[in-house]
Amino acid sequence: MSEPRSECLFCRIVAGEVPAEVLRTTESTVAFRDVSPQAPTHVLVVPRNHHPHAAALAQDEPETLAALVRTAHEVAADEGLGEAYRLVLNTGEAAGQSVFHVHLHLLGGRELGWPPG
Ligand code: IMP
Repeated sequence: MSEPRSECLFCRIVAGEVPAEVLRTTESTVAFRDVSPQAPTHVLVVPRNHHPHAAALAQDEPETLAALVRTAHEVAADEGLGEAYRLVLNTGEAAGQSVFHVHLHLLGGRELGWPPG
């Protein structure tokens, strides 16, 4: 399922209907700052097309899943994070997913503890 959805916040950000601080765009991805940052750098990288979670994206557009990681790596370099950052894909409400348009969290710029909460 990849048609834009009017009720999907991240589809609306991709479409430019909801404002966001966009850092980088590619043919298949958009990277923008998280509105509630959990680290000095907290960026979300989303596919332009709507997929509810990472497994659906992997199934339908595997090349775009790889593109999310590439875009995140480029943003990390732009942000001066070097090779030290964390990528997170929350999947399912119980795991913390609150927006059901797949998004890769890029976190960095501070010590990151393990395991995450
Ligand atoms: P999740 O909890 O893994 O689904 O992540 C959703 C993320 O979206 C959270 O970190 C929110 O802070 C972030 N978020 C929610 N609304 C907006 C927005 O309008 N712009 C940017 N980030 C948002």
